[in-house]
Amino acid sequence: MSVSTITPWVVGNWKMNPKHADALQLIKEFKQLLQQENVSPEYCHIGVAPITIALTNIHNELGDAVRPIYTVAQDVSKVAGTGAYTGEVSAELLKDSQIEYVLIGHSERRELFGDDVEILKAKLQNALNAGLTVIYCVGESLTQREQGAAEQVVLQQICDIASIVKAEQWHNIVIAYEPIWAIGTGKTASPADAQAMHVKIREGLKQISALGETIAILYGGSVKAENAAELAACPDINGALVGGASLNAQSFYQIAKAFAQSK
Ligand code: PEP
Repeated sequence: MSVSTITPWVVGNWKMNPKHADALQLIKEFKQLLQQENVSPEYCHIGVAPITIALTNIHNELGDAVRPIYTVAQDVSKVAGTGAYTGEVSAELLKDSQIEYVLIGHSERRELFGDDVEILKAKLQNALNAGLTVIYCVGESLTQREQGAAEQVVLQQICDIASIVKAEQWHNIVIAYEPIWAIGTGKTASPADAQAMHVKIREGLKQISALGETIAILYGGSVKAENAAELAACPDINGALVGGASLNAQSFYQIAKAFAQSK
């Protein structure tokens, strides 16, 4: 498989938003847009990541969409299975609730909630062993970029997980490159900078996995309807992880359309 044959992914990370009624309205509008003009699943995977307590409800609401829309958990416990772990949700329990996708390593989890390498490895291992597909987020800070260390930081974050992913489990991994300085700031990496980093990530993936050439690499950081086509045109950008713009049905739909049309 060559890089250009990877089906793009467009995933909305709702973060700690929106309220219940607004989430239902958002889904309703998004489904209507797809009904008017569908984005074929053949050309784009689509997912949304609601807050944990809304996962099942949103999953059910998405059930009658004209095409599959994945429900993605924003996080998972570092503890596997079931047991006395107040407040935690394990990978097995996500799977048991028909939630098949999870974000791991988002910079907000790394920075604000202490998700260090060991915790991320445990979460990843549990998720993969439970049969979930993981969207693993990587990205450098502004200081690291200014110091010329962006590439090294991002490749290290990929290497961090290499030892615990079994050969066949790379099938269930999607990488999201999200430069931290571009998340929620309105600043997007230039398509050329993003493309250059994606090429480096692809080279790194090929070195650590026989499936390296088939793994989707998404870009995240202030992706919006206005810049989606330009990013989607980059040959090594296989989709987008979208924060703010995914809270507007029309914007999210336009982004999905841009990626579907580009491939
Ligand atoms: C994100 O949170 O993953 C993200 C990319 O946010 P935004 O699109 O708002 O920058």
